[in-house]
Amino acid sequence: MKKISLHNQIFLAMIIGLVFGMGLNLFSDPENIFRIHAIWWMDLVGRDIFIGGLKMIIAPLILASIITGITTLPKAEALGQIGGKMALYYVGTTSVAVAIGITLILIIQPGTRDASKEVRAKREAELQEYRTAFQAEKGLDPVVEANRPAYLAYLAEADGASVASSTFNTNFDHMKTTEGVGPGTLIKNQLISPMLTNPFQSLASANTLGIIFFAVLVGLACLVLGEITAPVVNLFVAMNEIIMKITLWIMMLSPIAIACLMGSTMATLGFDALASLAWYSATILLALTIHSVFIVSLVSYLAKVTPGFFIRGIRDAWMVAFSTASSAATLPVTLHCVTTKLDVSDEVADFSLPVGATVNMDGSALHEAVAIMFLIQLYGGVDDVPVVLTIANTLIIAVTAVIASAGVAAIPSAGLVAMAIIANTVGLPLHYIFLVLAMDRILDMCRTATNVMGDAAGAVVVNYWERQRRERSA
Ligand code: ASP
Repeated sequence: MKKISLHNQIFLAMIIGLVFGMGLNLFSDPENIFRIHAIWWMDLVGRDIFIGGLKMIIAPLILASIITGITTLPKAEALGQIGGKMALYYVGTTSVAVAIGITLILIIQPGTRDASKEVRAKREAELQEYRTAFQAEKGLDPVVEANRPAYLAYLAEADGASVASSTFNTNFDHMKTTEGVGPGTLIKNQLISPMLTNPFQSLASANTLGIIFFAVLVGLACLVLGEITAPVVNLFVAMNEIIMKITLWIMMLSPIAIACLMGSTMATLGFDALASLAWYSATILLALTIHSVFIVSLVSYLAKVTPGFFIRGIRDAWMVAFSTASSAATLPVTLHCVTTKLDVSDEVADFSLPVGATVNMDGSALHEAVAIMFLIQLYGGVDDVPVVLTIANTLIIAVTAVIASAGVAAIPSAGLVAMAIIANTVGLPLHYIFLVLAMDRILDMCRTATNVMGDAAGAVVVNYWERQRRERSA
């Protein structure tokens, strides 16, 4: 019998999981004992074992692969050249992603559609009640300008309290830590501090920026010191091989694990979540699709590969990214695909992919910008949202989205924190973000797949440029 290839198995698994999960969601109630057990088992296989296994190897993988990548470079200057090209490519493509998202949201205007008008009307009615309650409790007229700060504080407390009672408690607390953060503090907290952390602490807490920075330093030092560091270099080269082997073993589990992940996600969320914000979701999905087409065209143009070759090469990683919603968990698979199917050299892949998975987030940047613009379109001008969309605001959102996405952790839902940062920058109260949370998981799956595609494309392009440079200098 002909063996079904891994990507077809994964694809089939996604469909089976989707259908099974939707079936559970539609035809059983949440208390149903079969449903509860089914979700428990699916979570065990998909999240605890499969994602857990991938997460287990991320920290050592990043350390070993970056040191291996750098030490196989001919000279330290080559790192500067590869690094410079990567930075250019990453910032360029992330900016394009944000521009596509912003253009579409301005054209489609999901925040002014009928469904959104209903949501706004509900909020306005709620605010009307708050105004009456405020006047009754405090004896102050909320419409009078002098009473405005007290009224806003009252609203924040009331909304904060109602939000805190929901299941999103932890997310909210996390988002709160970004309140009042300006661009300088943002760079310090999100980039500089994590980079300069004790490496053992970084490894233990999977602080990828910290691991990357330390690994680059170790790699560079080995390159500069030469012969004497050979034992260390050999150790990391061997460790890299070992981890790639473990990745392959974990990947053997991927079809069944992915069916479980899809099944449990669909059974828990259902399509209702998506339907209530249909226009907003459609805008994001369309923008992500256009960006993916752009990336595939760009990679074909810049690296002279056919779109079919590139898509076939990354499809396994793309599907794993989609079902795990984590670029970091997908990293071992991305590395495998890019080096074995897309002919990218180990040294470029080993260096560029861990960095890409950590800082290059095209899909996340696009999603964050669109989400904040949508919320402003929808709520702009109500009592506690003193912002409307202007050219200046749009530019601020775009630039902050590009910067903040670099600090987003490569794990599920991490983009919400960046969303909170942008909201703060333009003055949108955090509790409004909760409207878009309902479907964050599903959209996260899509943006993560786009993130991983962008990383792989970056590796292919930088690899091509590097090869050309070597041929020129040979
Ligand atoms: N889940 C995304 C990733 O891992 C990050 C995000 O939440 O935007 O790439």
